[in-house]
Amino acid sequence: MQDGSLPLKNGFGAHSLNGNSVPNYEARYAEGWSEISALAKEATGHRCVICDRKAVETHHALYADGKGAIAGREIPGVHVFPLCGDCHKEAHSVENWTKDPIEPVTCNCSTVQFYKRLRKGWLERCYSVERTLFYPKD
Ligand SMILES: [Zn+2]
Ligand SMILES: [Zn+2]
Repeated sequence: MQDGSLPLKNGFGAHSLNGNSVPNYEARYAEGWSEISALAKEATGHRCVICDRKAVETHHALYADGKGAIAGREIPGVHVFPLCGDCHKEAHSVENWTKDPIEPVTCNCSTVQFYKRLRKGWLERCYSVERTLFYPKD
């Protein structure tokens, strides 16, 4: 995508705008969200994937994929990432977050550049955690 956003535009979650055209941001969360969020934090040893401080929040890099809205089927490390409060604010800054004026509920997402940082940090921290499980004496 030339605008630097993830290729997820249009066609998703037309239901998320109600009759008054007020975005229903609640539609971004389904039952089981707290468990998914907890699993994401557990995988990185409760570390923020950007700065390594304690992760206290879980960021959605996107709210829809090729199959539609992801609420309830978020995959930690693919769709959602644990962050500290400061990095979560940074994640939603104008440089790192793409807002869709037509369908903000499902089409807002991290920029590709920021997504790559999230993925890299996720993989590094998961590796640190997993290595202590497989090779506890290292
Ligand atoms: Zn952080
Ligand atoms: Zn977020």
